[in-house]
Amino acid sequence: MTMMNAEQYEESLRRLNLVVHMFGKRLENVVDDPIIRPSMKAVAKTYELAHRPEHEDIMTATSHITGKKINRFTHIHQNIGDLVKKSKMGRLLGRETGCCFQRCVGMDSLNALSIVTFNIDEKYGTEYYKRFLKYLEYVQENDLTCDGAMTDPKGDRSLPPHKQPDPDQYLHVVGQKKDGIVVRGAKAHQTGAVNSHEIIVMPTLTMREEDKDYAISFALPSDTEGIVYIMGRQSCDTRKLEGDTIDRGNILFGGHEALVVFNDVFVPWDRVFMCREYDFAGQLVEDFAAYHRQSYACKVGVGDVLIGAAQTIAEYNGAEKASHIKDKIVEMNHLNETLYCGCIACASEGQKEASGTYAVNTLLANVHKHNVTRFPYEIARLAQDIAGGLMVTMPAEKDFKSPETGKWLHKYFKANSDVPTENRMRILRLIENITLGTAAVGYLTEYMHGAGSPQAQRIMISRRINLREKQKAAKKLCGIE
Ligand code: SF4
Ligand code: FE
Repeated sequence: MTMMNAEQYEESLRRLNLVVHMFGKRLENVVDDPIIRPSMKAVAKTYELAHRPEHEDIMTATSHITGKKINRFTHIHQNIGDLVKKSKMGRLLGRETGCCFQRCVGMDSLNALSIVTFNIDEKYGTEYYKRFLKYLEYVQENDLTCDGAMTDPKGDRSLPPHKQPDPDQYLHVVGQKKDGIVVRGAKAHQTGAVNSHEIIVMPTLTMREEDKDYAISFALPSDTEGIVYIMGRQSCDTRKLEGDTIDRGNILFGGHEALVVFNDVFVPWDRVFMCREYDFAGQLVEDFAAYHRQSYACKVGVGDVLIGAAQTIAEYNGAEKASHIKDKIVEMNHLNETLYCGCIACASEGQKEASGTYAVNTLLANVHKHNVTRFPYEIARLAQDIAGGLMVTMPAEKDFKSPETGKWLHKYFKANSDVPTENRMRILRLIENITLGTAAVGYLTEYMHGAGSPQAQRIMISRRINLREKQKAAKKLCGIE
């Protein structure tokens, strides 16, 4: 089976035996849990769209190792066109789901490893690239969702991994056997972790020789013995326990993050892609980060949804003709399309690496992600401005349905007489969801810190700009030798 559909994906998750904890207890049924299920549905969209003829060009690709048609989320970028399509795929899915659809981290890990394993082999004569290709074929053939796990808890930020009072603050090798290694540690903020078949672990920062036990990369099935998932909370998450109510805002989809603990987990050698080659840890981090910063094309799609919601509530309120509302909608679009420029530009300016994989332009990918840490906050501010205060003072759906209070709510929350009050509720709840509720994790805070906090991009920007060239251009024009 080279491409699963949405139903097959869901069934494949049912076969996993994950250890997942939430609200103080272990979940018996992860797939049907009302809080997790919307996030699973968002990943399922990546499978569903791949089977739609109108999205085939964006959502599928031809494997460079088997020549078969595969889901683009398992593809290794072979040219600039692939990179551009990846950005377009992110926007498409962001617009379809209105949240984080989680599958990009795995795609970005695979692509980064396809560059770095090759480079390690070139220097050390190891065989990581061969192993990686075998693993990649397995992922492509089974159309798997992979969690790309980079972020360690990091403990005391002033200390490198080997100097931490608790050595497990960074995931590391604690034992070596003939057939593999044993690892201990954790990865934090793991997007889509419990909707994944596989976990691909990478180091979180540049390492020195003293940290070599921390310079590891490997992949494991997500239900490997010793791996434990502890679900993160999201604002308004328990509204999902109220059933399919309007109060959820986005009644179809959601995202999730989890802390993933590796409690002395065994990794066989054929799934190890870096082991103590500390001088390549930084490259793996940078390559993954650049790809993932490009992936924030997803935010443009969620921005499309928010802009659509803002225009809709303006119409429902009868305010859409006011010049300041029109101007705010233009401003939101300007910001959102500026974001789009960034993720298309870093793809268009990509280049071929030694392994044959196409990498994005690192400077432009970092500029794009840096814009993402800012513009959505302004887009959300404008959406809340247009929405009005009712977005946060509106009573519950149950009160609208109550025979005692419903009549008052329908009467006093009516605006444009052509629009049912319920529709006004629905669109306001969607704006609330994206700017304050569960989707705000993915639209705001995750924009800030996901794929690296703003300072990480500023460091990369400062490293990649050519200031001397710019100075030369200036000096030439005014006659300085
Ligand atoms: Fe993909 Fe965006 Fe979610 Fe990251 S935040 S996994 S890029 S959808
Ligand atoms: Fe992310």
